[in-house]
Amino acid sequence: MSEGLLIVVSGPSGVGKSTVVKEVMKRVEGLVFSISHTTRQPRGKEKNGREYYFISREEFKRMVENNEFVEWAEVYGNLYGTSRRELLLRRNEGDVLLDIDVQGAINIKKLFPESIRILLFPPSMEELLRRLKNRKDTPEEEIKKRVKVARWEISRYREFTHIVINDELERAVEDVSAIIRGERLRTERMKEKIEGML
Ligand code: ADP
Ligand code: 5GP
Repeated sequence: MSEGLLIVVSGPSGVGKSTVVKEVMKRVEGLVFSISHTTRQPRGKEKNGREYYFISREEFKRMVENNEFVEWAEVYGNLYGTSRRELLLRRNEGDVLLDIDVQGAINIKKLFPESIRILLFPPSMEELLRRLKNRKDTPEEEIKKRVKVARWEISRYREFTHIVINDELERAVEDVSAIIRGERLRTERMKEKIEGML
């Protein structure tokens, strides 16, 4: 059996990555979510081993030293990483969806040039600011910093294979779903099925 696709969904903080990813997971069959490790504290109803593996900074550093991460990055003061173990495990289960930041997406491109990398764009910088404010989990000073970083992140759009504007949620979810469905129909992915018929 061939390995699952690697699908990265990335974009600035507040653009709607986790909202879109959650909906796409419900809608498209055969997707598995790559659970990252992080040193940040769980938020709201988040559960260890579902949204993230929540670990201490010491544990994270030990994993970095042991070369256990495919990629890792510091994002707004917390450490986040995709473990080799997680990726290997999930790729045997289906097509893998990663919700990671732009630095992470660029690193995944280097390691897996065949990966599908979707950059979520906000409809405007004003709307991005509004979403960050509405979420009410980020202090004002921090929001300003994130919007500044967002400009750099968006400027790296050439590193991505697809761009989806998250204006209306329903359309963005359908666009991401369509990209995944389309990738699954590529000739090289259909080969096994066809060969079996010959
Ligand atoms: P990210 O994971 O990229 O940081 P979130 O998924 O947490 O972003 O979304 C940030 C905020 O924007 C949340 O309050 C979410 O409900 C809201 N949001 C997401 N997508 C849309 C959209 N298309 N239109 C309006 N609000 C949205
Ligand atoms: P949050 O704390 O809001 O869940 O995530 C903050 C940021 O970290 C988001 O941009 C998210 O995509 C990113 N992120 C989550 N997991 C990883 C990971 O394993 N690697 C990288 N590089 N970024 C990640």
